[in-house]
Amino acid sequence: MKVPFVDLGLQYQSLKSELLPTIEDVCAGSRFILSRDVAEFEKEFAAYLGANHAVGVASGTDALHLALRAAGVGPGDEVITVANTFIATVLAIWQAGARPVLVDCHPDSYNMDPGKLKRAITSRTRAIIPVHLFGQAADMDAILQAAKAKGIKVVEDACQAHGAWHNGKRAGTIGDIGCFSFYPGKNLGAYGDGGAVVTNDAGIADKIRLLRDYGQREKYRHLFKGFNSRLDGVQAAVLRVKLRRLDSWNRARIEHAEAYTKQLGRVSRVQTPVLSVSSRCGSEKPSHVFHLYVIRVPGRDEVIRKLASDGIQTGIHYPVPVHLQPAFEDLGYTRGSFPVTEEYAGQILSLPMYAELTEEQIRHVCDCVARALE
Ligand SMILES: *Cc1c(COP(=O)(O)O)cnc(C)c1O
Repeated sequence: MKVPFVDLGLQYQSLKSELLPTIEDVCAGSRFILSRDVAEFEKEFAAYLGANHAVGVASGTDALHLALRAAGVGPGDEVITVANTFIATVLAIWQAGARPVLVDCHPDSYNMDPGKLKRAITSRTRAIIPVHLFGQAADMDAILQAAKAKGIKVVEDACQAHGAWHNGKRAGTIGDIGCFSFYPGKNLGAYGDGGAVVTNDAGIADKIRLLRDYGQREKYRHLFKGFNSRLDGVQAAVLRVKLRRLDSWNRARIEHAEAYTKQLGRVSRVQTPVLSVSSRCGSEKPSHVFHLYVIRVPGRDEVIRKLASDGIQTGIHYPVPVHLQPAFEDLGYTRGSFPVTEEYAGQILSLPMYAELTEEQIRHVCDCVARALE
């Protein structure tokens, strides 16, 4: 039995009859850039999240970059984020001209450790970027409390958490600004790159609209230096069709995660995901939407090889922490700077996860993980 890590082809087959005419309509109407499809998707995505404004941009990285600029972040400022994230979070801080300051993750959640965050705040801290990693909301209460006391902006990296909840709010609508990626493999994915910035602040939404379009409100009237970072019409049309399925796809992911956890719970030496209280089984408003199902195992690389020989594709998110990448040598961190992130980088293993996975596939993966660890 083959189990791919993700299978976007299955999803495409189930949507094809609805998607292709929609794409054709965009092409026939030449509605390629900032068309009504984009405006309609923005309205629907904002409504889905319960936010006042959503602004489509070219990628999740751009969403973070432009959000920081709209929040007034620039050279001389520090922006705190978590060492345990995808590099794009930190690249966006650098793109905004600010200095990235990293803190370690909490050993249970893999997300920003609020205790360590407090110690990293200085008089230069202008923004904090919590990342809802793997699809589970970070500890936003503690993070907001630390930020509010000092007048620091909170920009959520919700690129892995479309639809996740935290105390009655959707991820991305809890802080000042939320950033989403529609990279094809995300819980809500386009057929190319895409992203969105979400906020309740009309001024910030307006600033993002200008920043993404050369700093112009009117054609050829440039108020300041902007960027070319727009969500395109074809992607918006695809996302409108897919948004209607997001909650049911997320429910399927959560069910698969529960099946994994139940079966792997019997295998010694496997650490399954630890859920925050509101993620519990059957919750109406789950705080984990399992973009990734990540376990920790001893001898991880050997386990990967054995699973591969059983036809099971897995991933590592992420094998080299940001602060140990040559790209960010200049930050001055070393091995030992973030011990939890570093230890976990050698143990984490992402199992296949997508809505269309079958019970048989999950059982096969769990049997093979158990055998690999014997
Ligand atoms: C995917 C991702 C991004 C970047 O999104 P792109 O659309 O690929 O630019 C940023 N942060 C996290 C946590 C992500 O998973």
